Formats: sequence, structure tokens, C-alpha cells
Amino acid sequence: MRPELGLTPDIDREIELLAESGKRFGEWPRSIRQLWRAEKLHRRRHELAFLNAIALAWSLVSLALDYSAGPEVLAAGLPLRLGIVAPLYLLAIAMALYGGWYAQRWTSIAAVLAFVWVGGYLGMHVAPEQLAEYVMASGLLLAMGIAVLPIRVPWLALMAGLTVAGLWAIWLMMPGRGQEELVLMAFVTVTTCVSLLIPARSARIKDEHFIYALRAQIASRQLMSANEQLRALSDHDDLTGLPNRRNLERVFDEAFRTSVAAGTDLAVIMIDVDHFKLFNDTYGHVAGDRTLAQIARTLERSICGPGRMVARYGGEEFIAVLDGTEEQSALRIADGARRAIADRRVSVGDRRRSSVTVSMGVTLRRRADRSPLSMIERADAALYEAKEAGRNIVRLAGRGDGKPPPAILKEQA
Ligand code: GH3
Ligand code: MG
Ligand code: MG
Repeated sequence: MRPELGLTPDIDREIELLAESGKRFGEWPRSIRQLWRAEKLHRRRHELAFLNAIALAWSLVSLALDYSAGPEVLAAGLPLRLGIVAPLYLLAIAMALYGGWYAQRWTSIAAVLAFVWVGGYLGMHVAPEQLAEYVMASGLLLAMGIAVLPIRVPWLALMAGLTVAGLWAIWLMMPGRGQEELVLMAFVTVTTCVSLLIPARSARIKDEHFIYALRAQIASRQLMSANEQLRALSDHDDLTGLPNRRNLERVFDEAFRTSVAAGTDLAVIMIDVDHFKLFNDTYGHVAGDRTLAQIARTLERSICGPGRMVARYGGEEFIAVLDGTEEQSALRIADGARRAIADRRVSVGDRRRSSVTVSMGVTLRRRADRSPLSMIERADAALYEAKEAGRNIVRLAGRGDGKPPPAILKEQA
């Protein structure tokens, strides 16, 4: 089944009800019938074209039958088969491949009718001793057509009715008709009616199958969307909507390996809110939560971009990973984010506003680093130094080579 069937929640409900009710095709809602047609139109093109191609070949082979029935029959059959039946089948093949629903149906029916009627008409020219064979052949063709043509039963019944009526009309016009032909005609009529039972039964089974397939499609789509929601929930933090620690670890791991393999820069920033315990004590936990969410938004705006992510590491701590970013850019980005947070007034309820600051520790990947963990430890140490140095500060981790630590970026207030 193709995914572009355009199922909507309303249709989902209708399909559920339909599957329970076991209604017949004629009682299905319009919307479901349209789905059915869209699906069939797509699937049956080649099937229908193939059947029409077989019938076309058959109508040409019938010329041999005409020839064997006598030159008079061949002379009458040649223009009818080549001038009417064959072009109609070619048209039916073209419509089967490229036409719409109605064009497919009517051209296929017209071709079959022309085939059978021409057969019947030629029967009038056939010598009486061969007439029975002709009538039998027409009946056989009709029964086969009914069994294999992929159109719905009412249309098959119409086609069969018209064909049988045509055969009876020809029979009535026959000059030398006798008892034997009457029995044959009755036989063809009964066989045709009985063979209609086969598509009637199989259509019911196919319809049920179609509804169950739709139902399975809905169920699998619902499952996929539930899975997606679950993944989003398990990858993101509820309060801030930022990627969570697990997500961060996965991305950081990957970025670390790529950076080692390609020898490119990788920066990490550890961020901690200043005096947040006091903030909570002063304005309450709810205001604290809201403030954390606002800080998260500001961090996202200031830091995120291609190859850069910010995650909630835990509590009021965040970590940013910046792929392909060298030292000065990392410091500039970190300080931009620090400043943006310090400049922003946060709402703490009752129309009161306050402000918060954050401290940051920044480090770049070093050749000696064996895992992201050593980068985090270094960034954490730099963050600790920033806190010690007075907070609202970005601090670059020392090089660990005995030289004094690089400059501290202080707030320009
Ligand atoms: P420092 O400047 O040294 O970081 O001081 P601090 O008070 O922020 O100290 P610390 O980082 O140790 O304190 C973390 C506080 O953050 C404790 C806790 O009340 C608060 N906190 C952690 N997670 C949440 C949260 O999800 N919501 C709220 N409202 N507060 C949180
Ligand atoms: Mg903390
Ligand atoms: Mg803190």
C-alpha cells in the first residue's frame, strides 16, 4: 500500500468503524471508496493492460478460426476484427496505462463487447454445422472475461448482460436456427450467470483485505509517531526542551571521534547559573524553573548553529559542544551568551523582574585527550575558577603546561 494515500484522523476513525461493521463495498463511505480507487488505479494499470493485450492477441488469432470457417467468414471478419476490435483493444491498453478510472473501465468493457459481438455476428455467416462451435467459443470467452477482468461485479454483470442479450438478438435473426442452438444459447446464458459468482465472492474477500490493510497502515503509522514522541521525550529535557545529558553524551562522543580523526578543533563550554540556590530561596522554585527555561532559550539563541549544540547537563548546569570552533571563536561565543543572559531581565511572578548571571568554563580538545570526559573535567575546573574569580565570568581552562592561565573575560558593567 502506498503511503501517499492521504489518511487523516477522520478517515482513520471511519476505517476503524468500517472494519468492525463488515459493510459491503456499496455501503462504504465516499471517502473510503475514493481511497480504494486511488489504490486500485495505481496497482491495476499493468494488470489491466496485460489482460487487454492477451485479448487483443486472441482476437487476431481468431482470424485463423474465421479462415477455417470459410473464405466468406474471413472476408467479413477481417475488417471487423482489424477495424473495430483491435483498435478498441489498443485504446483499452492505452487507457489502462495512462487513463483515469472511468476511461479504463469503459474502454475495457467496450473492447470485450466488440469482441463478443463481432464473434456473434460472424456466427451468422458460419455454416450451420460450425455454428455451435462459434456460440460455444463466445460463451467461453465471456465466462473467462468475467472471471479475470479486474472490474467490479455490477459492471461485469452489465457487460455480461449486454453480451448475452446481443447473442440472443443474433440468434433470433438467424435464418436456420434450431433446437440445438437454443440449448447452446441457454447453456451460455446459465454459464455466464454462474461465473459471475466467482468475482462476486473474490471481490468481497479483496474488499475486506483492503480495509484490513488500511487498518494495519494506520496502526503502524500511529506506532511510528508514538515511537518518535518517545524518542523525542527520552532525548530532551522536559523543563527546558534542550537535549538532555544522554543526548549530549552521544553527540559529544561522535564529535570527539570525528575531531580526532580529522584533526579539527572541538570546543566545550560548561555553564553554571550563579547563586541559583539563593535565587530559588528568594523567588521560589517555580520562578527558578521558569528562569532556567529562559536561560536555556538564550543559550540556544547565542550558541546553537551548524555543528553546535547546548544541552542541559543537570540541575542548573548546561554544556555546549562546538564542532570546528577554535579558541578565540569559542571564547567570543561563550562571552556573547554570558552577556545576553546577564542583560536579560527575567520575570519572577507578581510582575516582578530580576536578573541572573552565569559562569562558564571553556576548553578546547587537546592531543592528549583520550575521551570527552577529560574535556569536561577541564571545563569544569575552569568553571570553578570562574566562580572563584567572582562569577559572571568566562574562563578558559589552563594549558596544564605550567604557564599562567589565559586571560579571564570579565563583565564590562
Ligand atoms: P554557584 O554560583 O556557586 O553555582 O551557586 P549556586 O547556588 O548556584 O550553587 P549550586 O550550583 O551548587 O546550586 C544549585 C542549585 O540549583 C540548587 C538547586 O536549588 C538549584 N536547582 C537545580 N536544579 C533546579 C531546577 O530544576 N529547578 C530549580 N528551580 N532549581 C534548581
Ligand atoms: Mg551547579
Ligand atoms: Mg550554580
